[in-house]
Amino acid sequence: VKASNPLSFSLQAKMSRPVQARRLEGIEKNIWVEFVKLAATYSKVNLGQGFPDFPAPDFLTEAFTRALGEGSHMLHQYTRGFGHPPLVKVLAQFFEKLLGRDLDPMTNVMVTVGAYQALFCCFQALVDEGDEVIIIEPFFDCYEPMVKMAGGTPVFVPLRPNPPKDGKSMSSADWQLDPAELASKFSERTKAIVLNSPNNPLGKVFSRGELGLIAELCVKHDVLCISDEVYEWLVYDGKQHIRIASLQGMWDRTVIVGSAGKTFSVTGWKVGWVVGPNRLLQHLRTVHQNSVYHCATIAQEAVAQGFQRELMLYGKPESYFVQLPKELQQKRDWLVQSLDGVGMKPVIPEGTYFLVADISQFKSDVPDVPNSDEPYDYRFAKWMVKNKGLAAIPLSAFYSEAHKNNYTNFIRFCFAKEEATLKAANDILQKWKQEKTS
Ligand code: PMP
Repeated sequence: VKASNPLSFSLQAKMSRPVQARRLEGIEKNIWVEFVKLAATYSKVNLGQGFPDFPAPDFLTEAFTRALGEGSHMLHQYTRGFGHPPLVKVLAQFFEKLLGRDLDPMTNVMVTVGAYQALFCCFQALVDEGDEVIIIEPFFDCYEPMVKMAGGTPVFVPLRPNPPKDGKSMSSADWQLDPAELASKFSERTKAIVLNSPNNPLGKVFSRGELGLIAELCVKHDVLCISDEVYEWLVYDGKQHIRIASLQGMWDRTVIVGSAGKTFSVTGWKVGWVVGPNRLLQHLRTVHQNSVYHCATIAQEAVAQGFQRELMLYGKPESYFVQLPKELQQKRDWLVQSLDGVGMKPVIPEGTYFLVADISQFKSDVPDVPNSDEPYDYRFAKWMVKNKGLAAIPLSAFYSEAHKNNYTNFIRFCFAKEEATLKAANDILQKWKQEKTS
């Protein structure tokens, strides 16, 4: 008779215990895990995930190299937890200019590990069990799980597409909030609204009128605004990015979220920030100091130098914040042309480096999957990457479960890519067009 092993019993007993915290229930699935893997396996041209494949500006990479150099060995050590002093100082100076108000670098600015951690700090610091948070659809996907992890309830309100006038292409400006519907979402339970302008994935740049409406409702219902402005410099066709914090009654209730990843084309550096009133930021600091506490010093130093350069060149043609949108507008127009050719109707974005395109004319190309409730845009994006080698992201991934099925005729492309990458995408689309017509 084998002696029973007391160890195996105790191990088994341990493993039968539930390990997942309740706050993770229902948020395990993630679009990026699935689609990044698909793109890595099948794509020849990846216009899926949002990152530039062109180099970061020389002045920034040179600043990074200098920070690594002789005499700066302390930049390998911890710096101030709430933000490297040179970076918070220059961010304060920059935003003083943008917002037209005095800012204290130590209390009105905090540096975070990318805009992701900035958002995480906002929700953890400001949202309680039972609070409602209004999210405008389509939305950057992490807002919903972050609200839920904080114990809050997301309340969704969609931008509704209106048909374009005079047979023109649809623009992201044609996607609008219904004012009555928006107003109906505000109640005494509403703690905050998340605004993302310019908006990922549509590229919509909210107009002064639209922002005024949101601001009015925030003031009326005493609601906070988490304003994700990571694409603030990426606006096209002479459009202007308006900061909701500059509207009457909004500074005191708004946290602005920003990202060096988007601003300087260095998404891998993961330097982000929040700007806002101390009465809000003091609570974000509590979350930050008890979670990550600190962000990489060298990356902060280099971003600080990048902002010092931009402050000097503010509004001048040499400014990166002037040059980058110019280059991206050209890339947007190339992609629009390529998509038009094959019959995917693009929604022309006013901002960001994303573009969504209507794929409703391709239903006969994509085989039905029996017994699958997968939306058409998911099936299309998977089919396209496997059969054409072109990666994009289904738009319905940017909607809540309840509204997903109303928006399954679009996919999102990222056009922050080298000319050669966009040309390769064009070649795929042209070949596809020939196959369709032959
Ligand atoms: N907000 C939006 C709207 C984004 O698109 C992204 C990145 N895709 C982020 C926040 C996160 O930015 P970061 O990489 O700086 O964490």
